[in-house]
Amino acid sequence: MSNKIPVSVLAATGSVGQRFISLLDQHPWFEVVEITASDRSVGKTYEESCHWLLSDPMPEYVKKMELLPTDADAIKKSQIAFSALPAEIAMIVEPDFARKGIYVSSNASAYRKDPLVPILVPEVNPDHLQILDVQQKTYQWPGAIMTNPNCTTVGFVVPLNAIDKHFGVTKAIVFSMQALSGAGYPGVPGMDILDNVIPFISGEEEKLEYEPAKIMGNFDGEKIVQHPIVISAHTNRVAVTDAHTICLSFAVREKVSEEQIISTLENFEFPEICRSLPSCPKKGIIYHKEENRPQPRWDRSLEKGMATNVGRVRKDNILDYRMVTVSHNTIRGAAGGSILNGELLAKIKFRMN
Ligand code: NAP
Repeated sequence: MSNKIPVSVLAATGSVGQRFISLLDQHPWFEVVEITASDRSVGKTYEESCHWLLSDPMPEYVKKMELLPTDADAIKKSQIAFSALPAEIAMIVEPDFARKGIYVSSNASAYRKDPLVPILVPEVNPDHLQILDVQQKTYQWPGAIMTNPNCTTVGFVVPLNAIDKHFGVTKAIVFSMQALSGAGYPGVPGMDILDNVIPFISGEEEKLEYEPAKIMGNFDGEKIVQHPIVISAHTNRVAVTDAHTICLSFAVREKVSEEQIISTLENFEFPEICRSLPSCPKKGIIYHKEENRPQPRWDRSLEKGMATNVGRVRKDNILDYRMVTVSHNTIRGAAGGSILNGELLAKIKFRMN
């Protein structure tokens, strides 16, 4: 009998769902026992329904599993549900899972603005997990909902927070170049994106401007007090398969040198509580000294896609400094991030070690 925690993947057939299925193969703490999708797929086996997009082969364990409806009543065994649902579906069904006593680790944006739902980034705010106790008491449900940030937010909030902890960041201007896989499958038509850049991603700029203030905020025992940072965002879709690149300029409260900022990034360490988690990378931030790095193609898979790559820290003519970040949008920015959050939950609530 396995002593792993039984988990499900909601919307297991999509771009993010497939990453979950792949990353949860042989996971030391979690065993996928249930998978769901839309009505289109319900009743079919995973291999019949899923158009597999990853270069690693479809894991054997999932091929013959039957796809269940995305309905809390259909889930009988799972203690944690990893959600890759479209936001509008997540909005309707995720609370039903929490009411049933299941912990939902969600990629969807549906509940990120709920004051009692944390946007967890273990590099930044592992203590925000404690708000789940307040959530359970207030909403009177035995399970809970926690989210990870938008896949672009996470790429810059990790280094920005590391710099903020030492020197105080007051504002930032961010400019993204986002991969095609961020639009799901089949996503943006080839005729629209080849030889082109699309300077609009629906709802994205607002998320990049809102989420960091909540993630970098303080949990005071009852609520999350937002960080006063002000952000202005431009978001763009580019013809890269995986990994989002972000150029940002930022202002700091303290007088600080370029070397001090680089050294802060190079010496970044994950909070102690996260270091024993199975998906925690050895280096959370990789600082690249080469003048033309980081780049998506070369750097997105470092630390199995769980690192935030940073480079080109230099003076800015308008704000104080600028830099470039690259992170893998469907791993660190989605399934890998949710699994890391699930592991933190498992360590604290389920006493896994
Ligand atoms: P996707 O490739 O379009 O996949 C959509 C998934 O949702 C499929 O599994 C689909 O199942 C399922 N689905 C669609 N309608 C449904 C319904 N009515 N009930 C139940 N399941 C339904 O999308 P994605 O890129 O994986 O994105 C999934 C979620 O993750 C979204 O909320 C997105 O914003 C978020 N996210 C994505 C990324 C990224 O980089 N892609 C990063 C962070 C967060 P069928 O196969 O049966 O149709």
